[in-house]
Amino acid sequence: MSESEMYDLIIVGGGPGGLSAGIYAMRAALKTILIEMGAPGGQVNNSDSVENWPGDEHIGGAELAMKFSLHAQSYGLEIRSDEVVELEPGLDFHTVKFHDGSVLRSHAIILATGGNPRKIGIPGEEDLYGKGVSYCAVCDGFFFRDKTVAVIGGGDTAAEESLYLAKLAKQVYIVHRRDALRAGALLQQRVKAECNIEVLWNTVPTAIKADDSGVRAVDLKDTQTGAQRELATDGVFIFIGFDPNNKLVPAGTNMNADGYVVTDGKCETNFPGIYVIGDLREKYARQIVLSAADGCTAALAAAHYVETRKASETCELPSELEDVAS
Ligand code: NAP
Repeated sequence: MSESEMYDLIIVGGGPGGLSAGIYAMRAALKTILIEMGAPGGQVNNSDSVENWPGDEHIGGAELAMKFSLHAQSYGLEIRSDEVVELEPGLDFHTVKFHDGSVLRSHAIILATGGNPRKIGIPGEEDLYGKGVSYCAVCDGFFFRDKTVAVIGGGDTAAEESLYLAKLAKQVYIVHRRDALRAGALLQQRVKAECNIEVLWNTVPTAIKADDSGVRAVDLKDTQTGAQRELATDGVFIFIGFDPNNKLVPAGTNMNADGYVVTDGKCETNFPGIYVIGDLREKYARQIVLSAADGCTAALAAAHYVETRKASETCELPSELEDVAS
């Protein structure tokens, strides 16, 4: 296939949003390609158990990701494993560019690039990543079997990951900067019920320390008294939120102060034919089901957009005929 071949729709990102968009786009007979640089399914792959995807009371994240991918491919969705380096909006068509200089063009684009775990920015965090510092309990929890770990954060992710770690580790300390968890009530109840999870309230980490074998302690500060202490730990798991992956968002796109893209009800940006879905889009909550719903909305809207564009192109008379017609 020619690299400059024109598509109806290019989807960038293969998480639940991108793959749902792929399913709806293929069902709408759009000539579609999905580009994903990692494993199809995105962040879902990192979830031990998903319990809020309707129809599945419990399903492993990797299994759900695989089901999304197989479902999309069952409609013949073309998936390219590659990294997009630039997205250029245009009047006649939009363009995505790759590292090797190749380009693809399309009438519509759905950007579904999600985001990344937020870094806390304390000494030791960067240097000790992979040596005891982690952002994924499902990926790294196994290494802390019967050990002590500190979890930083008080949201749904910190609570969920702590519950996962509590099944493996001897002791889990949740280090939270306030006196109440942000996590939902059910997760809070579960955290309280675990005898090997202790919440250290009004506490922030100030440094992560290591010896030759990896992390050995985290320095903590009481946010109310200012008192400092050292907590012995074998690992530090950081779950303090999420940064949207907006590096491909074209200049001039409406975004909020936190870097999320503002769209209309069709998930369309202020660039006609460019849609943003999932965790990158400004919205009330970030959930798998919402990303999937965004994918549906954007693909249906893109189908209408492409159809309208093609109809208007067909109706446009060549210039020599325009002269005759006038
Ligand atoms: P979040 O809800 O933004 O929570 C981040 C937590 O980290 C908060 O407790 C926050 O403290 C703390 N924090 C932020 N910056 C910090 C810093 N510099 N130092 C220390 N602590 C810091 O992020 P999330 O837990 O990743 O969740 C993201 C979204 O995904 C949410 O909408 C959440 O509901 C959703 N989610 C849902 C589920 C589920 O329903 N199963 C699972 C995971 C995530 P404060 O509380 O003081 O602000």
